[in-house]
Amino acid sequence: MTKEKVIVVGGGFAGLTAARKLQKNGFNTELIEKRDVLGGKWSAWKDEDGDWIETGLHVFFGAYEEIFELMKELNIYDRVHWKDHVLTYTLNDGERFDFRTINLPSPLHLLPAVFKNHYFSLLDKLSLGKALFPMLFGSEEYYQSQDDFSYQQWHRRFGIADKMLKKMFLPMTLALKFLPPEKISAKIVLDVTGTFLRQNYASKIGFLKGSPDQHLTMPIATDILKKGGTITKGLKLSRVEINSDDSIKNLVFLDENDREIVKQADKYIFALPIHNLQKVMPKAWIEKYNYFQGLNKIESVPVVTLQLWLDKQVSGVDNILFCPDGHIPVYADLANTTEEYSSDGKSRFQFCVAPAFDLINKTDEEITQQIWSELQKVFPKTAPKANIKKSRVVKVPKSVYWPAPGSDKYRVPQKSPIGNLSLAGGYTIQKFYDSMEGAVQSGNRAAAVFIEWNL
Ligand SMILES: Cc1cc2nc3c(=O)[nH]c(=O)nc-3n(C[C@H](O)[C@H](O)[C@H](O)COP(=O)(O)OP(=O)(O)OC[C@H]3O[C@@H](n4cnc5c(N)ncnc54)[C@H](O)[C@@H]3O)c2cc1C
Repeated sequence: MTKEKVIVVGGGFAGLTAARKLQKNGFNTELIEKRDVLGGKWSAWKDEDGDWIETGLHVFFGAYEEIFELMKELNIYDRVHWKDHVLTYTLNDGERFDFRTINLPSPLHLLPAVFKNHYFSLLDKLSLGKALFPMLFGSEEYYQSQDDFSYQQWHRRFGIADKMLKKMFLPMTLALKFLPPEKISAKIVLDVTGTFLRQNYASKIGFLKGSPDQHLTMPIATDILKKGGTITKGLKLSRVEINSDDSIKNLVFLDENDREIVKQADKYIFALPIHNLQKVMPKAWIEKYNYFQGLNKIESVPVVTLQLWLDKQVSGVDNILFCPDGHIPVYADLANTTEEYSSDGKSRFQFCVAPAFDLINKTDEEITQQIWSELQKVFPKTAPKANIKKSRVVKVPKSVYWPAPGSDKYRVPQKSPIGNLSLAGGYTIQKFYDSMEGAVQSGNRAAAVFIEWNL
């Protein structure tokens, strides 16, 4: 029997996962990516000095499942290095507070973390206590019903202290989706916080031992090829041609010289960022199907990342760091956290710079200087003694999908109304939104749509 051909468009973790699963299940798969590197939102490449540049700071959470199953199948799970279960907040003037979790059944694992915290007053903590019930025990329906509100509205409605909004939840929502609490849906914040509260290992954080290109993307890609699949880079999907029943007839790609290349398969998976998907959705689909009308309404968030190489050790911390002051809500000293990025004991920071709505229009030098001056305040004893050896800024004007208040209803199942198409990506429905785990879950589900049909 000839194998059915599937084209998977998009070489991020959603596309890579879908392509591998299909190839493993007897399909003839071609993965097509527009760039010359795979990995999408967590891709990495070497600069002229041989240093790895990454698109953004990435960590694994203990709550993840399917990405770990994938890594175990590929024998690369030991490349995740787990850190102490503590969330450290760094503030201006060198002030610090942390939440250290202990090994007790949930939610007892949190009690010492909350009660021992010296930064918030008893009143602040009690105000949060009232909200813990709906966060912890809220059903899916409850979380869903809060989607029309921003997290800031929800927080104030429950009378939780504003200090907790500014110092604890602001860096959290910025770290989660690069958005401040007034621009993000309450649903996603409650859902993620609920997961972290309910499982005592869920918020434990792991770092990859080195570059995602070498330690995650390449092993998946190599496995696809080993199983007989094909990977084509440097082709950008520019148009979808359809049949009279709206199914896909051909895909038209552009190569590096803008030459058109037409490809055809039995089935198709699009694993594209939402703004790229919107550019290629045929008009007829948008006119006819709610599925595509909703997708057309989802927006994307701008993201800026700064990597800084210093001539001295500044942080001394081997873990993720949060900061509610300035524009570095979440960052890490990769020289300490990431085995293969250590540099003779000198700091090598990676900062998520957010919110990036205005900052993205500044020059790389302006962004570097702004973050450098903020770092001086956060590490007032060590940073003034250090100098910048090198900096690299990566700007992505349209990155993860924007979980704006009221937008969750536009997310869709992976199975589309088009007979030979399924979709993968954070905006397709699964529990982990736009994250590595969300990408892998969506890729597995998009592939399963076709695998189940063939059974
Ligand atoms: C700065 C940053 C930090 C993050 N931190 C974390 C974290 O700590 N933990 C976590 O779990 N998640 C994190 N995420 C989220 C995570 O990176 C994403 O959710 C995940 O990588 C998305 O994978 P994807 O395959 O769905 O999409 P993408 O990675 O966007 O992949 C889509 C692919 O499609 C390609 N493409 C686009 N248009 C076309 C076209 N027309 N033709 C062909 N190919 C095309 C793109 O080049 C890309 O390779 C972070 C994201 C960012 C931006």
